[in-house]
Amino acid sequence: MSVMEIRSAADSRLRAMPKVELHCHVEGTARASTVAELATRHGVPLGVDDPDDLYTYGSLADFLNAFGVVCSAFVEPADFHRLAYEAAEDAAAAGTRYREMFFSPGFHLDRGVPFHVMWEGLASGVADGETDHGVRTRLILDVDKPKGIGPAMALLEVARTLDRDLLIGIGGDSTERGLDHHIFEPLIAEAKNLGLKTCFHCGEDGPAENIEIMVEAGVDRIDHGTRLLDLPDLARRVIDAQIPLTSCPSSNVEIGIVESLESHPFDEQRVAGALVTLNSDDPAFFRFDLADEYERIAAVFGYDHEAMVSIRDNAIDASWLDDTDKAALRAEFAG
Ligand SMILES: [Zn+2]
Repeated sequence: MSVMEIRSAADSRLRAMPKVELHCHVEGTARASTVAELATRHGVPLGVDDPDDLYTYGSLADFLNAFGVVCSAFVEPADFHRLAYEAAEDAAAAGTRYREMFFSPGFHLDRGVPFHVMWEGLASGVADGETDHGVRTRLILDVDKPKGIGPAMALLEVARTLDRDLLIGIGGDSTERGLDHHIFEPLIAEAKNLGLKTCFHCGEDGPAENIEIMVEAGVDRIDHGTRLLDLPDLARRVIDAQIPLTSCPSSNVEIGIVESLESHPFDEQRVAGALVTLNSDDPAFFRFDLADEYERIAAVFGYDHEAMVSIRDNAIDASWLDDTDKAALRAEFAG
């Protein structure tokens, strides 16, 4: 067997491994072909001649342009159904069996799409995706941090009324630059009052101090947390409490948070004892899926299959399933 054959056998084993994903944005799963078709139907300019060029970035501005086009293309409940359904179909191809997935209502509301249109479409798409592709998905409502605390609290008011079997948590996304994260303390406190789980993007394009603010606020999970080890006392606290990190190393490389996978702190965090998980973030935008991420990280850090199983198992532990469902998932994955 050649080295390449051995490599590809290992790759397909990791692809087939049943997985859990905790950090993926439904908008970031939108296939370019679907966006192109819906954009044409709704008269939204695509900005590129070839749909395949939609997710080719020369800059952060290109990325934001693509994100804007994607959000504009989804208008009707059937569009959101398709988005969630295809997300499940593509997740199944990566071996994902359970996913806690973000959706970002702010971008759609800005374009005049009513919340219930988005929610009903996503809910039915998630249900059909599970029936047809075996991927169980629950949703996290992600607020857009730069909009500030007012719109975030307004979204929490809407969240109050939603089906808790489907909506399980509140998160916060987008750039950390120029944002005092203390302003989100009331959001986390009120979400916890409502019995929702909480997580926040921090320590991604901002400093570890933002992680500290959100840990103080009581978040259940840290999204990214790339900069965690910059503050040793904070790192000790996060590790001792086993507050999970939803790491997305390839995403961090794609948008220039770290220079390369080799220089990503994932391995250092893991060796230090952090509860690290692997995630794709925006798989369609970045043209790789969760299985690719597992394969890359195994290759870059020299992890054997057992190590990858333990990283996968971290995601079960870090999920917001109850203990019975976690045990059922472990049994299903071991079978
Ligand atoms: Zn993210």
